[in-house]
Amino acid sequence: MFKKILVANRGEIALRIQRACRELGINAVMVYSEADREAKYVKLAEEAVCIGPPPSGQSYLSMPAIISAAEVTDAEAIHPGYGFLSENADFAERVEQSGFQFIGPTPESIRIMGDKVSAKQAMIKAGVPCVPGSDGELPDDPAQMKRIAKAVGYPVIIKAAGGGGGRGMRVVHTEAALVNAVQMTKAEAGAAFNNPAVYMEKFLENPRHVEIQILADKHKNAVYLGERDCSMQRRHQKIIEEAPAPGIPRKLIEKVGERCVAACKKIGYRSAGTFEFLYQDGEFYFIEMNTRVQVEHPVTELITGVDIVKTQITVAAGERLPFTQRDVQIRGHAIECRINAEDPYKFTPSPGRITMWHAPGGPGVRVDSHVYTNYFVPPNYDSMVGKIIVHGDTRDQALARMRTALAETLVEGISTNIPLHRELMADAKFLAGGTNIHYLEEWLRHHKR
Ligand code: ADP
Repeated sequence: MFKKILVANRGEIALRIQRACRELGINAVMVYSEADREAKYVKLAEEAVCIGPPPSGQSYLSMPAIISAAEVTDAEAIHPGYGFLSENADFAERVEQSGFQFIGPTPESIRIMGDKVSAKQAMIKAGVPCVPGSDGELPDDPAQMKRIAKAVGYPVIIKAAGGGGGRGMRVVHTEAALVNAVQMTKAEAGAAFNNPAVYMEKFLENPRHVEIQILADKHKNAVYLGERDCSMQRRHQKIIEEAPAPGIPRKLIEKVGERCVAACKKIGYRSAGTFEFLYQDGEFYFIEMNTRVQVEHPVTELITGVDIVKTQITVAAGERLPFTQRDVQIRGHAIECRINAEDPYKFTPSPGRITMWHAPGGPGVRVDSHVYTNYFVPPNYDSMVGKIIVHGDTRDQALARMRTALAETLVEGISTNIPLHRELMADAKFLAGGTNIHYLEEWLRHHKR
């Protein structure tokens, strides 16, 4: 096992990885920008290295700064967390070329999955169900384009091969609008992602977002850890996640899960990963794979008892997965609310000093957060200040625990989205389960303040 790991991230996930290292008896080296000097995991660290000024381009996104921090501290491996450099194949490559283990998949896997056209082609080959659409990149010829769209059937969505974070997509409802929309998406994709390639998919009108968590080792073992429903989104940003996904037959999840595992084996995938699907009318459609640990991983940890972050570390060190598919049992129901420092209804960021932070507790309640009373939320990064995750024997019990937990949570000095979460946890449609990806935005339109 590693003796020392460098944690190349910030915020709650940096603390989460630090905790996993502690449990494994590994020293965690924390890195921080000048804006994060006060973070809890920096104060708790045996070793911490300042890697630059607040802008992430000069700190958390600086490959030389991170690699030299690993060099000076004699770390053996680097955990990239999520966001920042976690899905950057060049970074993974440089980490390994510098003699460190990258705690994640191979650079090749990251590269294939980072290009949505090649990811989809790999999935089709592996038998994972995909959204019907163009066979690879869309050709430039208008006549061919129109022929493909006709075959797929309107409405269609034009998506950038290099897109991410909900950007680089355009919905087209009629043939008259098609050619212009493709040209505009291509131009934007070229400017934003340095890759003008686009592809076409059927636009699904009312899907849910359901994703499958997988874990794989370097010895061709892979398992799936059930699914998560992440349909509660605003601007393609998830805010509530739960597992299992309400109302989806187990048999169907098993079928898709087995396909994902087969795909992992086929492409030699290792570490944690997530297959994201849209789910509509009883069918799963692959949209993309995330080649890293995700924000919402705790709901899966609570229903399976598997520590995903610890397993990422042990498999990176070459160990085998400590369990097989048969050992994975789903127990109860888990829900996560992401707590953001923002106005709960206008969504303007609300950085600043937290004058009071009282976290909830009690049976089945987990809080992953790096903040504390008197912590200053820097304006430079993502607004998420923590996550409240609950577990119950049933979905109703989990919901009741989340309501209690949210009622107990006290944050002063900054605004948070806790009032929004409290309202959503009392919303009849959400409580019934199975709301689609448009539900939250519709709800917000009807509850304008
Ligand atoms: P990104 O990498 O930018 O997150 P995704 O491919 O994961 O892009 O898509 C982001 C979101 O866009 C999805 O969660 C869904 O809301 C919407 N979307 C993507 N593809 C389709 C589709 N074929 N039909 C309907 N909505 C889609």
